[in-house]
Amino acid sequence: ATAFNAAVEQGRPLNAWLVETPELALAAADTADAARVSGDLKPLSGVPLGIKDLFATKGVETTAASSILKGFVPEYESTVSGKLFAAGAGMLGKLNLDQFAMGSSNETSAFGNVISPWKRNDGGNASLAPGGSSGGSSSAVSARMAPGATGTDTGGSIRQPAAFTGISGIKPTYGRCSRWGVVAFASSLDQAGPMARDVRDCAIMLEAMSGFDAKDATSLDIPVPAWEKGLSGDLKGKKVGVPKEYRVDNMPPEIEALWQQGIDFVKDAGAEIVEVSLPHTKYALPTYYIIAPAEASSNLARYDGVRYGLRDLPDGANLQQMYAATRAEGFGAEVKRRIMIGTYVLSAGFYDAYFTQAQKVRSLIVRDFEQAFAQCDVLLTPTAPSAAFGLGEKSDDPIAMYLNDVFTVPSSLAGLPAMSVPGGLDGQGLPLGLQIIGRPLDEQGVLNAALAIE
Ligand code: GLN
Repeated sequence: ATAFNAAVEQGRPLNAWLVETPELALAAADTADAARVSGDLKPLSGVPLGIKDLFATKGVETTAASSILKGFVPEYESTVSGKLFAAGAGMLGKLNLDQFAMGSSNETSAFGNVISPWKRNDGGNASLAPGGSSGGSSSAVSARMAPGATGTDTGGSIRQPAAFTGISGIKPTYGRCSRWGVVAFASSLDQAGPMARDVRDCAIMLEAMSGFDAKDATSLDIPVPAWEKGLSGDLKGKKVGVPKEYRVDNMPPEIEALWQQGIDFVKDAGAEIVEVSLPHTKYALPTYYIIAPAEASSNLARYDGVRYGLRDLPDGANLQQMYAATRAEGFGAEVKRRIMIGTYVLSAGFYDAYFTQAQKVRSLIVRDFEQAFAQCDVLLTPTAPSAAFGLGEKSDDPIAMYLNDVFTVPSSLAGLPAMSVPGGLDGQGLPLGLQIIGRPLDEQGVLNAALAIE
């Protein structure tokens, strides 16, 4: 308790936690003590975890970092957090995020941005983005306030914040982790996953989080492999693909160097490198930024001032005016932008031109990966096109912000398992992440290649 309090005290300026629940973590520690005596230890007995505030937690306020959910206390537990607690973990608190998980820097939170514990080594004191949307999770784990945290990843929200803060995080195959009780952003893309200090901790957490759930219609009814037991950094006989289209224009030389470093690491572990092509890569960002807002605009229709959280009922207002006032007040600017884009691309006159077209391109992106995986076992790329940027640097320019997702979005559209591991430091001493993308359901292959790199 003392160590935790000290760590939280020190970390409080980072604004990572929205709710602190040390009593729940301590209760799990007590249960673990008793289990140790009775020989009933579970995989995560007593481990204190941070839970991204996109997961509904029974009896603990859950806001998705949006004013519209302020005061919402779920009467149910999300399947994933429930599974972690059933495996012995305790909850330290709820972690800040980009509002409704929309963002890449944590600056869209209604409760203030999170700050990365990292600083550039240029003598300056600039505050850096912890990445997003799981920026509370990345900051808390990186600052050693929690050994692990949950994240969610719709277009990179586990991997990019992990890369920005020098930790590891894996987004499993779509359908591995139940979405039940996770506040929905873009349902065909959303996946939960762990963020932790190393690959092994991610494997242990992911095992506890995964598994079939009848309450999520897209949940996969297949066994959860023993990933931790299967860990091996020996890549002999494995082929690692390097997609040439990821060599984007204006790629900073340090990202090039990082990628080469990663190639050397997997070669040293016995892998053979093959160059592969993912020809539709350049369409992935526009495709994502049509599909994700379209699904979001539909999912966010439920925040109407009636069912959850905030209600703004001006004097004499009718129902329609109450909806409008509640949504105008409750949603942040980025969320409104996405609702407008989504509503536009789904509108009768533009549906075929945007939404249908994006779905077709999504199929082409899926096929690109299938063809690449005929030639290799996993793909190796940088996680993001830069190290952490400064807070405020991109917040006025949504396109610049969206471009940061260039390497993470394609595998999300294809539902593939993908992981970020620390790959080195840039010239300013900031961490850079390498990404491993695997075949559907081959989390083991992803974890093992990541292990060879870390
Ligand atoms: N940065 C991306 C977006 O803003 C991805 C977010 C996420 O994965 N939740 O949509």
